[in-house]
Amino acid sequence: MTNSISTRVAILGSGPAGLTAAIYAARAGLAPIVIQGIQPGGQLTTTTDVENYPGFRDVIQGPWLMEEMQAQAEHVGTKIVWDHIAEVDLSRRPFRLSGDGGTHYFADTLVIATGAQAKWLGLPSEEHMKGRGASACATCDGFFYRGKRVAVIGGGNTAVEEALYLTNHSHDVTLIHRRDSLRAEKILQDRLFAHPNIKLMWDSEVVEFVGGGEPEALVGLDVLNKLTGEITRVPVDGAFVAIGHKPATELFASQLELDEDGYIKVELGTTRTNVAGVFACGDVMDKIYRQAVTAAGTGCMAALDAEKFLASMEFEALAAE
Ligand SMILES: Cc1cc2nc3c(=O)[nH]c(=O)nc-3n(C[C@H](O)[C@H](O)[C@H](O)COP(=O)(O)OP(=O)(O)OC[C@H]3O[C@@H](n4cnc5c(N)ncnc54)[C@H](O)[C@@H]3O)c2cc1C
Repeated sequence: MTNSISTRVAILGSGPAGLTAAIYAARAGLAPIVIQGIQPGGQLTTTTDVENYPGFRDVIQGPWLMEEMQAQAEHVGTKIVWDHIAEVDLSRRPFRLSGDGGTHYFADTLVIATGAQAKWLGLPSEEHMKGRGASACATCDGFFYRGKRVAVIGGGNTAVEEALYLTNHSHDVTLIHRRDSLRAEKILQDRLFAHPNIKLMWDSEVVEFVGGGEPEALVGLDVLNKLTGEITRVPVDGAFVAIGHKPATELFASQLELDEDGYIKVELGTTRTNVAGVFACGDVMDKIYRQAVTAAGTGCMAALDAEKFLASMEFEALAAE
């Protein structure tokens, strides 16, 4: 049997952006629904220690933070639905969303908070060492490697920025790149080449993340020199994979304006997309900061933008009577 649910605000995604939007929309009396997707709680549920989310003196755990955010959203009146949206129609209001399980959602406004996923190299040893020294976010985890040896893998702007950022914590940063030149902007390359604490390994590919000790932690990377075929062990305590992110925007590709990397475009200083009544927040529209607190911040903005939009629609409808 097909089920259908109507709402004034549908929020797609249950990471920090979606749940913060829900808290604000619920407290504005809009009774939002959050459609959780296949990763309830979002990316932070895949990590352990979080030390940079404000309000907590001690280190907190990512999954715990997201459970608290969900509980807060529910406490103020959000309905959380376990579903994954497979199709959307944004051509007219109410917008129509179709869930995997056959449920249809009709929404006066839509807040998109579907996030972005880091790209990884895809090695089994990399998967095994996630949270034990392998990371995809220097801003998030760099602090844990104070005074230690770290490597960054990649050759674009993000890789170079992460390597430079890591010099705040480490005197021994190695950038490993599979080609013989970087794709990063010239100004970033100049800063990188001039830095005394950054070494470069060109034409090099990581083939193994090597763990050791008890509890197990990263102790090195096996790196293949593509020109000579030689494999060298590079001793490091942390390895940051910086080969890009993929925003979860396939659903909207032909319906919303996206930038060249697939992120949803919003009007500067707002969360408004090019479709009236559709708002985007968090990592799905932010390829620069990608932090829980910035996702939460733009989630708040999206709820306020949606509330304002609904109020203006209702005012226009009244005026037309
Ligand atoms: C390992 C790791 C460690 C991190 N550590 C930190 C840290 O210490 N501090 C920090 O500030 N940030 C950290 N980050 C970054 C932070 O997690 C992200 O910036 C933040 O989660 C982005 O929030 P978001 O709500 O935009 O998206 P996400 O958290 O990515 O959530 C996206 C949501 O959208 C849902 N979704 C996707 N597609 C659909 C669909 N079709 N239908 C329904 N739902 C859908 C997913 O299920 C998910 O719930 C870390 C990230 C990772 C991966």
